[in-house]
Amino acid sequence: MRDIPHFVNGQSLIGTSGRFGDVFNPSTGEIQARVQFATDAEMDLAVQAAAKAQIGWASTNPQRRARVMFDFKRLLEDNMTELAELLSSEHGKVIADSKGDIQRGLEVIEFACGIPHLLKGEYTEGAGPGIDVYSMRQPLGVVAGITPFNFPAMIPMWMFGIAVATGNSFILKPSERDPSVPVRLAELFMEAGAPAGVLNVVHGDKAAVDAILHHPLIKAVSFVGSSDIAQYVYSTGAANGKRVQAMGGAKNHGIILPDADLDQVVKDLSGAAFGSAGERCMALPVVVPVGKKTADELRERMVSEIQSLQVGVSNDPAAHYGPVVSSAHRDKIASYIQMGVDEGAELVVDGRGFSLQGFEKGFFIGPSLFDQVKPTMQSYREEIFGPVLQILRAETFEEALTYPSDHQYGNGVAIFTRNGRAAREFAARVDVGMVGINVPIPVPVAYHTFGGWKRSAFGDTNQHGIEGVKFYTKIKTITARWPEGAVEDSAFVIPTMK
Ligand code: NAD
Repeated sequence: MRDIPHFVNGQSLIGTSGRFGDVFNPSTGEIQARVQFATDAEMDLAVQAAAKAQIGWASTNPQRRARVMFDFKRLLEDNMTELAELLSSEHGKVIADSKGDIQRGLEVIEFACGIPHLLKGEYTEGAGPGIDVYSMRQPLGVVAGITPFNFPAMIPMWMFGIAVATGNSFILKPSERDPSVPVRLAELFMEAGAPAGVLNVVHGDKAAVDAILHHPLIKAVSFVGSSDIAQYVYSTGAANGKRVQAMGGAKNHGIILPDADLDQVVKDLSGAAFGSAGERCMALPVVVPVGKKTADELRERMVSEIQSLQVGVSNDPAAHYGPVVSSAHRDKIASYIQMGVDEGAELVVDGRGFSLQGFEKGFFIGPSLFDQVKPTMQSYREEIFGPVLQILRAETFEEALTYPSDHQYGNGVAIFTRNGRAAREFAARVDVGMVGINVPIPVPVAYHTFGGWKRSAFGDTNQHGIEGVKFYTKIKTITARWPEGAVEDSAFVIPTMK
């Protein structure tokens, strides 16, 4: 059995805890490796190495740090296929989708290549008599990231891409379900010229997360995962004096106005609801058609679209989506489907019981479609995170607007229409953090920022873009004068610019 060790101070660190997590190949259902879970002492070893490395790294001029980012980007491109195959083998998403996962992370690295420009401070000459004021952005020190299984390349790079470029050193605690790509990323980052200890990968479960949250040398924690854990990480980290951003779960809605181009909507919904087996925080698992005619037509077309979907192993180039990450997760999705039936929603297409010939032990589940979903249903109010699309009918624009706004999650939402004024009003009024207009998965580009509202994010800073630079740096403001001549009298009143 292959063991996946930690990556600390530029090399593999064999764990001693005797605790492991099984790493499956979701397409076959077989255990292909086991990942070591860290002890508190191993976490401390990584933090000490990171603290030591950070001093020299922070004083390396930003242009040199940017050159490492440029070389890392090139290595990502050179190793794209190998990384994508590794990612798919542990996650289950199809290889083209794994390449997208890596590419979206790579785009954050491209943004981080501009770090010299992004770190420039501000300067005011002559703010007072002979007084100049200037500010500088400085790194925090050692910072950490805790990431979910569903984007094992993109989300680590959202975090460490900006954190290391701004002069911090980083501890990455990736998901224990697909930990190999994060380790490869750290190895490639070293190959790109980063000093040992700047980027470390420490594996584990709750114990490793707690070790991060309580370690006094870790100054900031970025988390992405489910909402209850996000809230725990946010409150525990903040109580320990750390800067924390914690992104949580989602239940994104697609609003379909009667004038939308339904041919396009059906294609967009199919990819956004079923792509990656629905295991995306920006998936569109709820569709809200406005008016009976729109709803009836959409339902009919979705049924035939779903019939054309191909579910296959992750390295089948013809498959639209692959298995889900674990058998436990497949069972959870199936139990939500049953819950929907029990609550009185109409199960139009049932994906349970799907089996792929030759891969009967794989964690597959077919696409499901519900109609007549009501906002009070638990299967609507909670995140399913699987290939299940729920139709929630609305009679008016106003009613459609309330569903995403009133939902506990507020990650993403999309509206499909040809009416610019309606789209504009929707975008302005909806209580959700990221909005698509005829764009089903509105994940902002790397130089903008990513973040939801309500229970989809705890903390007040988004991921990547300029918000990422702010999260991983602290601002220092200097007020300077160079007096000459006679000694001035003491001033007992607060200085003003009067
Ligand atoms: P998860 O919450 O189970 O795990 C996330 C991380 O927390 C992992 O590293 C895991 O090891 C750790 N963890 C697990 N249990 C813990 C505990 N009890 N205490 C402390 N840490 C613990 O999430 P997941 O299943 O890996 O990922 C799917 C979830 O992530 C979904 O809810 C999805 O919506 C969400 N997600 C959100 C975003 C976003 O940006 N809002 C992006 C991607 C995924």
